[in-house]
Amino acid sequence: MEQFADGILIGFGSFWLLGFFAFGFLSLREHVPRAAWISFGVGTLLALPLFLALLLPALTKAAIAFLILGLMLVFVILVLYSPESSQENPPQRQERYDERDVVFSRARLTPGEPKYDRYYAMRPENLATDEKFRAQPGLLSPDAPKAEPLTFAASESSFDLTEYVREAVDGPVSTQVTRASPDTITHMIKGFAFHLGAHSVGVAELDPTHLYSHVGRGTGAYGDPILLDHQYAIAFSVEMDYDMMGRAPEAPVVLESARKYVDAAVIAIQIANLCRRLGYPARAHIDGNYRVIVPLVARDAGLGEIGRIGILITPRLGPRVRLGVVTTNLPLMPSKGKGDSSIISFCEICKKCAENCPSKAIPFGNREGEPGGQRWKLDEIRCFTYWNVIGTDCGLCMAVCPFSHPDNWAHNLVRKFIRRSPFSRRMALWLEDLFYARKLIPRTHPIWLPRRDK
Ligand code: SF4
Ligand code: SF4
Repeated sequence: MEQFADGILIGFGSFWLLGFFAFGFLSLREHVPRAAWISFGVGTLLALPLFLALLLPALTKAAIAFLILGLMLVFVILVLYSPESSQENPPQRQERYDERDVVFSRARLTPGEPKYDRYYAMRPENLATDEKFRAQPGLLSPDAPKAEPLTFAASESSFDLTEYVREAVDGPVSTQVTRASPDTITHMIKGFAFHLGAHSVGVAELDPTHLYSHVGRGTGAYGDPILLDHQYAIAFSVEMDYDMMGRAPEAPVVLESARKYVDAAVIAIQIANLCRRLGYPARAHIDGNYRVIVPLVARDAGLGEIGRIGILITPRLGPRVRLGVVTTNLPLMPSKGKGDSSIISFCEICKKCAENCPSKAIPFGNREGEPGGQRWKLDEIRCFTYWNVIGTDCGLCMAVCPFSHPDNWAHNLVRKFIRRSPFSRRMALWLEDLFYARKLIPRTHPIWLPRRDK
C-alpha cells in the first residue's frame, strides 16, 4: 500500500511539475512572460506538497493518495459531463444583404459623386452616422494618433496590391474539361490551398443567402444586382501573426491585416484559375472585391463559428485569421459539420472582447434574432468610426480572444476541453484570466518596425 501511495504522489507531482514547466517554457517562446512565470509558480505549488508528503507516515500518505484519486475522478466526470447537443442548426437568413450597406462600401462614397447621392437617397437614415466617420482623420491617415509613417506606407503597399489584382478574380474558362471524381478533386484542391499557405480549408454548397444582393465595391457596376450561379464555395483561412496582432491597436496590426489580405487574394486567385483551367467557371473573392458574405460561407464550409465579436472564430486560431473564398461549378464534396456550438457557449461566458473594445461596439448581452438564426450583432459603425479616429484597424478584440493563442499542443489541449462541457469551459476561462489577464498585455514591438513618436 505504501508503494502504491508513493507512486501516486510521485506520479502526480511529476505530472504537475513537468506539465506546467513545459507550458512555462512554451509561453516564454510565445513572448508572454506573465503566463510563463505563473506557470512555473503553479507547477511548483502543486508539485512541492506532493513530494514533501512522501516524508509522512504510510497511513497519511495513503489517505492523501486516495484523496487525490477521488478528486481526479470527480474532475474527469465534470469534464466529460455535457448536457448539451454539440451541434446547432446553421443560421437561416431569409434575405440577401446589400453590399452597398456594408460600411466599407459606404466609406468609399465621396460627396458630390452620383453614387453618393444615389446611396443616401436610398438610405437617408445612414447619412448622419456616416458623416461622423468621414469627419475623422481616416484609416492610415498621417494625422491619426496611431500614425507611423513607414508602417502606414508599408500597409498601403500591400493594400495597393489587392487593388492591382482586382481584375484577376475571374477569367476565361478552358474549353477542355478535365474530369475526376468530386472526392479526388476536393482532396487535391484542399491540398493545393494548404500548399499555398492556407491554415484551414472547407467546401460549402453555395446558398443564395451567401450572396450579396447588389454590388457595393470591386469590379462590376455599383448597384448592379449580383447574379452568380456557382454551385460550390471553397473557403479558407490564413493565419495572422501572433506577435503583430499582440500590438493592437497600434500600426503593426494594420500592416499585418494588409499583408494577410494579400496572402488570401493570392491563394484565392490561383485556386480560381486552377478551376477554370480544369474547365469550370470560378471566381475568387478577395479584399474589396467580394460577391459573397465571406464569414457566412466559411462557417458553412466548416471553418468555425460566428462569435460574440461578429466575425468567424476558427477552432485553432480564433479570429486571428483572414478569409478567402472561391466560388465555382467544379464538382466538389461539401465539408461535413457546420458551425461549432461550443464556441458560442464559450462566448456566452467569456465577453473578453466586449470588455476590451474601446468603442463599445461588441455587445455584452445574448445573441439576437429568430431561433436558428441568432447571432451577436457588432455595431460596425462604432467600430469603423474608431478605426477612422485612430488610423489603424484596431484589432484589440482579435488580440484578446482566448481562441487566438497559437496553434500548438498546449492551447489545442485547452481547445479540446472547451469543446467538452460547460465545466471545462468555465475552467478554461478561469485559467485564461489567470495566465493572460482580462485586459490585453501588449506584446513586444517588432524590432524591425519603427515606433510611433507621438
Ligand atoms: S473574446 Fe471571448 S467572447 Fe469574444 S469572441 Fe473571443 S471567445 Fe468569444
Ligand atoms: S476592432 Fe477594435 S473597435 Fe472594432 S470591435 Fe474590435 S475591439 Fe472594438
